[in-house]
Amino acid sequence: RKADVECRMLVLGAGPGGYTAAFRSADLGMDTVLVERYASLGGVCLNVGCIPSKALLHAAAVIDESAHASDYGIDFGKPKISLDALRTYKEKVVGQLTKGLSGMAKQRKVRVIEGVGRFVSANEVEIEGPGGKQLVRFEQCIIAAGSQAVKLPGFPWDDARVMDSTDALELDDIPRKLLVVGGGIIGLEMATVYRALGSDVTVVEFMDQLMPGADPDLVKPLADRLKKQGVTVHLKVKASGTQAQKAGIQVGFEPAESGGKAPEAQVFDRVLVAVGRAPNGGKLDADKAGVNVTERGFIPVDRQMRTNVPHIFAIGDLVGNPMLAHKATHEGRLAAEVAFGEKKEWVARVIPSVAYTDPEIAWVGITEAEAKAKGLKVGVGKFPWAASGRAIGIGRTEGFTKLVFDEATHRIVGGGIVGVHAGDLISEVALAIEMGCEVHDIAATIHPHPTLSESVAMAAEVFDGTITDLY
Ligand code: FAD
Repeated sequence: RKADVECRMLVLGAGPGGYTAAFRSADLGMDTVLVERYASLGGVCLNVGCIPSKALLHAAAVIDESAHASDYGIDFGKPKISLDALRTYKEKVVGQLTKGLSGMAKQRKVRVIEGVGRFVSANEVEIEGPGGKQLVRFEQCIIAAGSQAVKLPGFPWDDARVMDSTDALELDDIPRKLLVVGGGIIGLEMATVYRALGSDVTVVEFMDQLMPGADPDLVKPLADRLKKQGVTVHLKVKASGTQAQKAGIQVGFEPAESGGKAPEAQVFDRVLVAVGRAPNGGKLDADKAGVNVTERGFIPVDRQMRTNVPHIFAIGDLVGNPMLAHKATHEGRLAAEVAFGEKKEWVARVIPSVAYTDPEIAWVGITEAEAKAKGLKVGVGKFPWAASGRAIGIGRTEGFTKLVFDEATHRIVGGGIVGVHAGDLISEVALAIEMGCEVHDIAATIHPHPTLSESVAMAAEVFDGTITDLY
């Protein structure tokens, strides 16, 4: 069969990984086709992930900040919320970015084809879209088809009151009572939004802490604040026995372990299920190209992002955790450069994680507990924001900054920050780890005063007194 389109590089999926790969590939002079199921570029992150959630979290922060302003004598009164206007604002933010991507694709002469792509051989993908079926023959390919929300079985998914994160971002209404199943980053970000908008929010988490995997020390100020704000949190509990009723969605609860406790069944106006994301690797007929896919749908790759088929690469959420946009873009660039012939491989030591909750939680590298489990002798420098002039000035002293360093070499191996803008502050720690900084390199760097960034330098200075010759 004759191909409708031929190209040097085909990129499958236009999320942060895919569009970065396609743009880099085109910049390197490769004739590039970018295939995307939806009309809008940007994938989950721009359309139904990072960007819309942060636009709504900004609105939530404004609501909370204006309520808090009464502490210093300014009363804005009760907020009047127009959901239509808020939705329009969110859509405007998303639209500006996705339109920008289309412009950038055009500028680079990346040919964008709308439709669902599936492999038919090791050098061909068939695309089914609004323009009919097209066969594209490629020399090289980068698979960037991402992931999607796990639809936990047992929930009445045909009822619109049961939502995944995409539905929750639609902001159809402000439910009076909202249940969030899953106390991870996505669940807690959406809980933050709906709580600020006025919902009575309950969170159930199967594990023994919110944000499982994060340093429990960092999670505590967030858990305390959520409690103060009236969010009910049930740990070591799972939702079960769900039923759609006229009055709402009835959800039963069970303890995660035998002998544990669980609350009584309750009726909620809406339920958000945010229990993780599943990779899309299994939906592409990758076997027809000879590409290995794991049972869970991940596509294994080497340090150059190559699959087991040397001219086919894979990147982003579908190659493994952490499922984060900045990991996908980094991998996208690398895959395009390796495909072009550059002799490179994955060199990043760490990938920062951020929960844009209130307060934000950001961490990078290994945590204190992990370091101890690995038998690494570590020191910890912790600076409480209660001693930061800036944090006091903005009335947000619950935060702290923590640095973890190898006691033998004094090199920074991890760090965590909880507090407002923690996500913006963590990059310094990531850079320190990438550059092999010693703790006194940070302490000796002059940080501007009064800023929250000073807390990183302060943490370097107050690390348990194990080093005395800082300066
Ligand atoms: P995706 O963004 O999933 O893009 C894959 C694209 O491929 C999609 O557009 C899809 O339509 C397309 N596709 C799939 N199959 C096919 C096919 N067969 N044919 C054609 N097209 C196909 N990460 C962060 O780093 N920071 C955040 O703040 C953050 N917030 C998030 C909030 C939410 C609510 C969610 C859900 C996720 C969030 N993430 C965040 C995660 C982030 O969105 C992902 O890690 C990121 O989008 C992964 O990029 P990707 O390129 O691998 O895939």
